[in-house]
Amino acid sequence: MDAQLKQLAGFVASANTVEELTRPILRLIQQLTGLESTYLTSINVDAGMQRVEYVLNAGQLQLTEGLEVPWHDTLCKRALQSGRFLTSDVANTWPDSAAAKALGLQTYLSVPVLDTRGEVCGTLCGASSQQVQLDNPDDVLQVLQLCAELVSVQWTRDKLQHAALARASAAERELGKLRLLAAVSEICVAAQSLSLAVMQVAQVMQRSGEWQQLLPFETLQQQLVLLDPAQQALQQALAQWLATLSAEERCRNVVPLNPEFRPPELLDAPAYLINIFVGQQPVAGLLALQLADSGCSEQLLILSGISNSLSLLAARLDEHSMLLDANQQLTYHARHDALTGLPNRRYLLEELERLIARGVRQQLGFYLIFVDLDKFKLINDQFGHETGDEFLRQIAQRLQQVLRKGDFVARQGGDEFVLLCQAPEISTEQSELIINRIRQCCSGVFSLGDFKLLYHGPSLGAVSWHSGDSQDIDLLLSLADVAMYQDKQRRRAMPAPQLLS
Ligand code: GH3
Ligand code: MG
Repeated sequence: MDAQLKQLAGFVASANTVEELTRPILRLIQQLTGLESTYLTSINVDAGMQRVEYVLNAGQLQLTEGLEVPWHDTLCKRALQSGRFLTSDVANTWPDSAAAKALGLQTYLSVPVLDTRGEVCGTLCGASSQQVQLDNPDDVLQVLQLCAELVSVQWTRDKLQHAALARASAAERELGKLRLLAAVSEICVAAQSLSLAVMQVAQVMQRSGEWQQLLPFETLQQQLVLLDPAQQALQQALAQWLATLSAEERCRNVVPLNPEFRPPELLDAPAYLINIFVGQQPVAGLLALQLADSGCSEQLLILSGISNSLSLLAARLDEHSMLLDANQQLTYHARHDALTGLPNRRYLLEELERLIARGVRQQLGFYLIFVDLDKFKLINDQFGHETGDEFLRQIAQRLQQVLRKGDFVARQGGDEFVLLCQAPEISTEQSELIINRIRQCCSGVFSLGDFKLLYHGPSLGAVSWHSGDSQDIDLLLSLADVAMYQDKQRRRAMPAPQLLS
């Protein structure tokens, strides 16, 4: 017996699990008793079932691991209730056991394995179809009880270890979800583009290991556009599935999709629509196909957090682009004339500065032509201010049409316009050509609402500038003004604007 106890001590020292401890114990019991089968069972009293966990079959009798039998019909239960742990005459001891009869059992040995509360949680057993007389049954039962206690301790250890592992993996999952939310927030804080951010969120969700497929999309004029070019083929199927949602569902940030309407192109998995809104308007989203159905309500919370973060980003980017637009409009209005849409005096001065700086660098010249409409007041007086406005607009259009590439025209104010015409070479002939072209384009018949007006053109003053000349812009403008004034003097006798019809 001492040798067996030594052996037992060795098993305990080297075993890490119930199985590692039980298998050698079953062999030891078999050697001690000579019974055909030795085995360990577990008992689930609540479910009313006994299960054979580990078996050593050494003879004809063959018991299988994993076999489950109703607890109330077992020999073990009878042995426990009667306190009779060993019999070599099963047929007469428990004549009512159908299972014992079917297996032809003659000898039966069973000791309970107790849990930490002292409740029976299993049995350590031996059985034989032969009648086996043990030499020293009390010693054998003592060894068996000792083995049962050792198994019980290891069982408790196993359960604690499993519980600890389960807690660790639950904590790991929780951490994974927090990590996911943190990564999504980080993306949303840094993002400058919504579609890029939605793609990046899909990637971090994919890496979290909870999702088998993610389809990021944006909604452009009510049309759904998948953002990943590799997923384009699924676009139709996705749109089809989302079309089955009610208007109310379409306004929720997370919607579980009905598997009944799943198009065959999409994977058969629990699916969620994650909506991204600007105000009430859905602007983008993600279809997330889950790997396994895990913690549904919690999952919805996480997805809702993702939807909120992306919607905040969408709102921020939307406001930013509105601000940019407003800013662009302000800049435009600050540099353009509201009536004609032409650059205004401020823009003209900037352009002049730019042109002079470039002229100095590249040895280039330009003409500055001052235009003042002749007898414009008469148009206002005779036909009204609005007709005068329309006339100014048409003059502006004509001046724009006469421009060559790189030239510039501005409304300096009132009925005055300034043109800047670039010229590599400066000459009097060229200056006259330009002046004639401008005068011609601003003369002739104008259709102003219901009537036509014959106009005899504006007064023009041209000055040329070339690198090396003064860079004083005011001086340049006043020289052109003087030239224009001289022209006006010459044109005093020109007829007034004439009504044709
Ligand atoms: P001149 O032949 O000497 O150039 O005289 P003019 O009648 O053309 O008048 P002048 O150039 O001295 O003055 C320009 C007039 O244009 C003064 C003003 O009543 C009118 N005016 C200025 N701005 C506007 C505008 O935005 N719309 C209209 N309809 N008239 C304007
Ligand atoms: Mg005038």
